[in-house]
Parts: sequence; structure tokens; C-alpha cells
Amino acid sequence: MLAYRLLKAQTQPEFQEVPEPHAGPGQVVVKVAGSGLCHTDFALIARDPAHWKEHAPPFTLGHEVAGWVEEVGGGVTRFQRGDAVAVNPSWGSCGRCYMCRSGEENHCLYQKDLLAPGLGFDGGHAPYVLVPDARFLVPIGDLDPVLAAPLTDAGITTYSAIKPAIPGIFPGSTAVVIGVGGLGLYAVQFLRLLTAARVVAVDSTEARLKLAREYGADDVVPSGPDAAAQIRELSGGVGAAFVLDCVGINPTLATAVASLSWRGRLTMVGAGGGSTQFDFRDVPWGAQLATSLNGGSIALMDIVAMAALGRLKILVDRYPLNAAKQAYDDFEHGRLVGRAVLLPTGSEARAA
Ligand SMILES: [Zn+2]
Ligand SMILES: [Zn+2]
Repeated sequence: MLAYRLLKAQTQPEFQEVPEPHAGPGQVVVKVAGSGLCHTDFALIARDPAHWKEHAPPFTLGHEVAGWVEEVGGGVTRFQRGDAVAVNPSWGSCGRCYMCRSGEENHCLYQKDLLAPGLGFDGGHAPYVLVPDARFLVPIGDLDPVLAAPLTDAGITTYSAIKPAIPGIFPGSTAVVIGVGGLGLYAVQFLRLLTAARVVAVDSTEARLKLAREYGADDVVPSGPDAAAQIRELSGGVGAAFVLDCVGINPTLATAVASLSWRGRLTMVGAGGGSTQFDFRDVPWGAQLATSLNGGSIALMDIVAMAALGRLKILVDRYPLNAAKQAYDDFEHGRLVGRAVLLPTGSEARAA
């Protein structure tokens, strides 16, 4: 089969012919319906060879994967050929610790490295993917697996960042999403579905702010040095109970901290490389600063259920797998509206 692979650190990915995978004991082969592109892929491609541990390239890219069970290995009894599934990408998790047992595999206490399909293991930019353990599969029922693909990363990342903050996002408070691209548009929707807060979207692009309104933002604020003052004004002077920074660069973190209310919570999911001061003077008293990465199987089950009920808008730009280079190019140059998802040939026919 033809797979889109990162062959060597710091080189451009290429198509390569590789053998179709087969399921060993406990494993499952999934026929890929859709495999999403993520900003992390660019970081992977650019990663310094010295920073790769034992799971260095070559491997097939694609860590947002959903499709249908194709082949089950020995001992796998809960899945059958043809079942529609989404793939929880926390493949470095142990499956036994407290966090794993709680469905928070992304916070596994014993993971040694961040491993996932398309990150150390062969991923979904191929007709088939070998899932090393059936516990990584979440059944999706009648939900279109092409729509489920971006939920496995873009969706769970924002959901898992918001969920622990909910007790502090009381009705009538203000919740802010900074950066309303591939991740932020989910965040706007989750805040609308899970809280009674006023949702404010912040972005540098007029088109994305317009989209954020369509996705449920109550107010929109352009990025910049005045954003925090505008958020404070919109919140009646008290500031935001919750800020989700989907960008994570110095200016967005500065806006985030300056927007927080007393006892507010800032969660950073954007790995933009920025930082902010954490001290008694700059951070409002009682405030919490957190980071959040990806999500676990319970988060994936939660949002698959929301999507199945038709409560989530999932905007997907579909590309055939053989147009992977074009898709990455469009992504890199800001030409995408939704999340780019690669479709191996034949997957549309199977979905119909
Ligand atoms: Zn990702
Ligand atoms: Zn664990």
C-alpha cells in the first residue's frame, strides 16, 4: 500500500510503498476512512534528530484517525470486522495506572515518551493502520468516520482542557478562546454546550472571528494590545473566569493573563513556544495556570456522543490521500477553512 511517510528527521515526507499490516495478538488493523492533518506534524518534520529517542522516523504520518475494523488479532473479542471506530492516539500509555484506568491515557503516569500513530508508530496517512492494542479503539456507531477523525485530537484536546475548568465557569461568567482555528472552533462549541458563560473569541483574522460567531461565540475581539481591556469591558469589569489559549505565544499569553478574573483559570493548549510570568504581582489572586495536551478515551467517547447527536459542527476539508502534499501546503499557507482530512481511495465508497 502507498503511505505518506516521514522517512528521515528534518526532510519532507514522501509517499512510499509499504506492506499492508496484519494484526497480532491483541491488535487491530483499521481500514482508514479519514486521517487528519495537525500542526504538530510540522513540528515533527522539523524536529532535531538528536531529540528523537528510540521511535525515530521512518514512520507513516497521521495521528487523527478513524475508520472501520478490518482485521482483529487473537484475543480481541469486543470488536468485529466492519465496526466503525475512532482511534485514541495515546499509544505511549501503560493501560494499567490510575490515569489510564480513569480514561485519561494522555496523562498516563508511566509513559516514557509521547507516542501516537504518526508519532513513532505508523499512522493513518495510509489505507490501513495497525492499532497496537484494541483498548485504543472507541466505537462511533453511525457517525461518519471522516468527521470522527479530527475529534481524536483537535476535538479531545480542547474538550479535555475545558472539562476540569467547568466548576469555575459559573453561569454569567466570561469564557475566552484565543485563536479560533482548527482547535478553537471546537472550544467555542464545547463552552456553549457545557456552560452558561458568555463566550468570547479572540483572533487576528476577520474571517475566523466571523466563523467563531457562527459556531456560537457571543462576542468577538480582534487580537492585539487592546484585547484584554475589551474582554474586561465585555465581562462588566471583572475579567474572564476561564481563558483557553490555543496559540501559546508571548502576546496571546499576555492577553490571557491580563484578561483573567480573580480565581480565574488559564489553560494553554497551543504549543506556540511562548511563556508568561507566574508571580504574585502579575497573576490575579486565586488564579490557576495550566497546560493541557490531547485527551483520553473518555473524552473521545464524550465528544463522539455529542457529534452523533448532531450537537457539534465539524468542518472538514477532504483531500484524497494522494493529494497529501497539497493538503499540507494549503495548511501551511492558511488556505484551509476546516481541518484537512486525507481520504484513502475507496474509503468514500465504503462509507456510502
Ligand atoms: Zn495533533
Ligand atoms: Zn498509564
